[in-house]
This record gives sequence, structure tokens and C-alpha cells, in this order.
Amino acid sequence: MKNKIFNFSNTYVNLPENFYQRIEPIPVKDPELIEFNSELSNFLNIDSKKINNKNGKLFFSGNIIPEGAMPIAVAYAGHQFGNFVPQLGDGRAVLIGEVIARNKERYDIQLKGSGKTIYSRDGDGRSPLGPAIREYLISESIHNLGIKSTRSLALVRTGEKVFRETVMPGGILTRVASSHIRIGTFEFFYYKRDFNSLKILADYTIKRHFNTFKNKKSYIFLLRNVINSQAELVSKWMSVGFIHGVMNTDNTTISGETIDYGPCAFLDHYDPKKVFSYIDFGGRYSYMNQGKIMLWNLSKFAESIIPLLDENLENAKKIAIECLNEFPKKFERSWLKEMRRKFGLTRIFSEDIKIIDDFLELMRIENLDFTLSFRNLSDLICETEKKNNFKLKNKKIINEWILKWNKRLEKEKLRKSKIASEMKKINPLYIPRNHLVEAAINSAVNKKDYSEIRELLKIVRKPFSKGSFNKKYSLPPESSEIVSNTFCGT
Ligand code: AMP
Ligand code: MG
Repeated sequence: MKNKIFNFSNTYVNLPENFYQRIEPIPVKDPELIEFNSELSNFLNIDSKKINNKNGKLFFSGNIIPEGAMPIAVAYAGHQFGNFVPQLGDGRAVLIGEVIARNKERYDIQLKGSGKTIYSRDGDGRSPLGPAIREYLISESIHNLGIKSTRSLALVRTGEKVFRETVMPGGILTRVASSHIRIGTFEFFYYKRDFNSLKILADYTIKRHFNTFKNKKSYIFLLRNVINSQAELVSKWMSVGFIHGVMNTDNTTISGETIDYGPCAFLDHYDPKKVFSYIDFGGRYSYMNQGKIMLWNLSKFAESIIPLLDENLENAKKIAIECLNEFPKKFERSWLKEMRRKFGLTRIFSEDIKIIDDFLELMRIENLDFTLSFRNLSDLICETEKKNNFKLKNKKIINEWILKWNKRLEKEKLRKSKIASEMKKINPLYIPRNHLVEAAINSAVNKKDYSEIRELLKIVRKPFSKGSFNKKYSLPPESSEIVSNTFCGT
């Protein structure tokens, strides 16, 4: 046991057979290990000293199945852009096993891009390298911004081609998640009317994620907890200008972690209607819609567990609606909490909402960069309003706003330098800006030059402190550099 590299302790595989397919990753031709996250590896109690380029590329491509692994592809359904698909499942991913990390919690290790499974439908089970790089960079950023997320343990170039609109090199991402149970996993059994499996799934989920629930009302607690954690998650995304881009119910976890980084990106200038995803024609998953869409997704979760909430259907529906009705309040409260902190406001006053809204509107009208505007606020906090860094057409409006904000800050009864330093701890200087991510992907894919990925990783791992990095990493794109669309690339 002690000599093993991974100490697997698998549980999902003990669930009934209709929960998954047993399948091994399909080997690839010529794997190359591009990135290995040794910090995460240590956290997962993986013996990273025993992982090198030679065996790492074999483990993280799926060419070698490590001892103790029990690979499976798991079943789930989901609503995609509002339409129900009864069977999705891991069509290009294999869960190789679970490990217990240093925090004593259980984590899944999954290879994404690992070949066909019974859930692949018409797909090839593979992933192009580009989207795997995007996921690696952005999930690492979201985690380091203090937001719950699945993480990336390794990135492999497969040496094989994948055929999409163009021919692209293949990639495999090793994803780590506190579980891969999604709203869509519950939908899978609910829509089959397989309430027995639904109950087994709910009990497993409670045991795995919420093992403090010990009474008959556990399923109501489960619903409430998922609602709370998703309200918190989305408000945190919005506080850093993150747009997930494809908030389908199969891409919404029960654990409250961000999952399925596809066409995601961060705002540069503040535009509440911003959509990056090339396929999101109607703006369903735009920046400002994310709260509403999460409520929609949660309503699908509530619907799926109605058979468990109460034996009496009418009572069960009433409970579900009551729980869902709490979401808008919880979301608003959580959003306000995040936003207040961004402005240096730790206490609660009625004028706060107007101060926040007015600044957002000012950023929108003046096309200001979301991330840098908040850094500017923390810089100017000790200055007079005449010396602010904002480059605006309408100076009068910002000066008036700063006066009001300063007046409000006085009620904090804290030294301004203290407020400024607290603000800098939560308003990032570095985010993986879309033009930088695209540039890193292009160099990696076309020239096998991984230096930009490595530089960006250093930056996103220290998002709040000014490092000795090239200034370009903190700046918004020049107009010629803007990349305003992202592609799913699956
Ligand atoms: P996603 O867009 O990653 O949320 O994936 C939606 C569904 O499509 C999931 O069931 C995936 O496993 C499946 N899928 C995506 N890409 C592929 C592919 N290349 N081959 C097979 N299945 C895929
Ligand atoms: Mg998905």
C-alpha cells in the first residue's frame, strides 16, 4: 500500500451498475506531459516524487492504469440551453479513481479527452489540446481567486490529431473534483422514473458531501445546501467578472464547485450583457444572466428530487417551491457581500446599493476595465479625488461618485490605508485575460512553445500581489488584441 503512487479509495464504483460503465481510457499514440501540478498532487497525497516526465505522460494520458484505479465513465443527463437530453454521461472522460486528500476529503481523479465510452454518442471521445489548456489556466485562476472549483492536475499532448472544423492536436486534462455529481446526475434517474436509484444517489451524495445531516429531513437540507452554495458560487464569479459560458444543468455540481470550463472567459471592460461563447446566440448565459440561470438550473434539481422531499406530492412541491423562493434573496445577499468588500465596505448601510450600482453604471458607460477599475479604487483611496487614475470622458460624474464613496468610507471608522490594503487582498490585479489565454494556446498548439502557459500559471497563482511580471499581464487588450469570442471546442 505504502509504495503506491496513488492511494485510491474508490466508492462510486460500488453504486449499482446503471450509474456508470466500466471502461478504461483508450491509449494514445505519443503522449507528452506539458504540465503537472505538484502542489495539487501533494495535497491529494499522491507521491509526486515518484512522478516524472516518463511515467507521468503514461499515467495522465491513460496509457497506463495506475495500481488501485477502477476506471468508469459515469452516467448523467442534463438540460442543455434549456432542452432536456436524457442521456449525456462521460462521453470523453473516465473517472480513474478517488483519493483522500490532506484535508481528509475525498476527490475524484478524472481523465478528460480519454476516448470513447458508451456515452459518446457520435463523438470521438477526444478533446483538442486548446480547450484543455484553457481549462487548466482558468480553473487554476478561479481556485486561486478563492472560488470553489474543480482543479487541474496534469495536461498531456496526445500526439494524435482530432478532427473538428479544422485538424487540431489532441489533449488530455486530468481533472480533480470533490465529486462529479451534477444536477444532471439526479435528472438522469428522475426522468427515467427510477426513484430507487434516485434515492441511492441522494444518500450517496449526502454521505459524501454533507455527512453532518443525520435526520429525516436530509433531502430538504440537501436541496437547501445546493441552493446556498450555488448562490454563493455565482455571486463570487460575478465579483471577479467571470462568465462561465455554458451553465447547462450537467455543468452544475452538487458540491458547489465550478465545473466544465468550456467557452468561459473573464470580462475586460464592464459590459453586463457580455457573452463570449460563439454558440450562445441568445445571450442565455451572459454575465448578468448567471444568477437567473442558476435559479432555473436549481429548479430542475428541485424537480428531480421531489419524490424524496415528501411522500405527499403536493407537500413535496410546496417544499421545493419554498426552498427555491429563497434563492433570489440569498443570491442578492451574497452578491452584495462580495461587492461591498470590493469597495472596502465591511459594514452595512442602506446607501451601499446605490454606490455599487452607480459605479457599475459608470464603468459600463465609460467602457472601463472591470478588474483594473477596482484596483484603481484601492489606489486612490488615500488620494484626493483630483488625482484619480480613471481615464474618463466625463470627469464630473466620477468625482461626484468618489465624494459619496469617501463619505461612506468614513462610516467604516478604519484607517484609509487599512481599507486600501484589505481591498487589494480581494480585488485581483491578474486574471487570465482572454487575449492572453488565446495567445498561450496558439503558441502551445502551433509551435509547441509552452512558455506562455507557464508564465500565465505563475500569474494566476498570485492574483492579488504585484509581481515582477511583464506589465502586459495586468493590462486589458489593445483594440487590435481583443478576442471577443470563445469556442466550446469539444
Ligand atoms: P460538455 O459540453 O463538456 O458539457 O459535454 C456535453 C456532453 O457531450 C457530455 O456528455 C460530454 O461527455 C459529451 N461530449 C463532448 N465532447 C465529446 C466528444 N468529443 N466525444 C464524445 N462525447 C463528447
Ligand atoms: Mg458538461
